[in-house]
Amino acid sequence: MATVGALAGLAAVALPNAQAAQTTSTATTASTAATASQSAPVDGTAYAIGNPPAGDALTTKSSLTNVVQYNRLYKTGAIPTSNCKELNVSLRTFSGVVAYENNLFKCLYGSWALPLKQAGAAYKVAPKLVVHNSRTVNSNCGVVTDTAFFCGYNGKAWIYIPAYQIMNYWKQSPTMARAYATFTLSHEYGHHVQWLTGILNASWQRSAAFSTNAARLEESRRRELQASCLGGAVDGANKRNYPFSGGFMSQYNWVISHSGDQPGGPRDHGAIKNHAFWVTAGFNARHSFTVAGNCNTFRAASSAVA
Ligand SMILES: [Zn+2]
Repeated sequence: MATVGALAGLAAVALPNAQAAQTTSTATTASTAATASQSAPVDGTAYAIGNPPAGDALTTKSSLTNVVQYNRLYKTGAIPTSNCKELNVSLRTFSGVVAYENNLFKCLYGSWALPLKQAGAAYKVAPKLVVHNSRTVNSNCGVVTDTAFFCGYNGKAWIYIPAYQIMNYWKQSPTMARAYATFTLSHEYGHHVQWLTGILNASWQRSAAFSTNAARLEESRRRELQASCLGGAVDGANKRNYPFSGGFMSQYNWVISHSGDQPGGPRDHGAIKNHAFWVTAGFNARHSFTVAGNCNTFRAASSAVA
């Protein structure tokens, strides 16, 4: 019960996930895609095994580097608001978390459809959202413990969200739990966007070709920081109708500025300050709208993805 113990200590310091993440998370799979170490649950991990569904853009042969650095996703226009509202429900119970995340999921699907279509991706393909209450889940991408994660597998995708983490946060701060639940799913949906546009698979293939662990870790950070930036971008697109203001916004900012690599942990998600930088870059892309093009971590300097 290391995670639950760590969660109980939340009030004192930083995002508690960090402590549990290093020791309790494991993932096994036959694929080379799933060898990365786990990190803070707010970031989850994204696996890609087999191919994503083919959109127009994915039929063109392109180098792996071109797919991640010059993807059509970066040229897409404003992310539209989904016009949906945050669900007013208590996250104290499992059913509350399920309802809350399913509502947000529809918002994310609605907002991403147009940019994904513009990017030539199979924009109608939704991941299956699995809000569960187990510490360990057995997915097509392997056995994963104590973290939210994305799994793309042979043309289908899943997002797994452990409800108990959100319910534990609720006991300490309901507003923080709402912000955490929102950002976590937005981040995981960012991986879905990466997957549909071919970025996720190309990035894993680039990783497999690197000869040093340092290079593989940097690639992992580019991947994760981009998912967080895309999460920030879609959240920013919905700031007028979702409550990104007041106490909720304060807690959201707290969550994004306490996520990322923790001292002594694996360097696979990016330094905390870089995590906050990229989420904010997505969220504040323009005064009146946000674009996925602000999230090109694959062309950013190494220092920006450290
Ligand atoms: Zn992630």
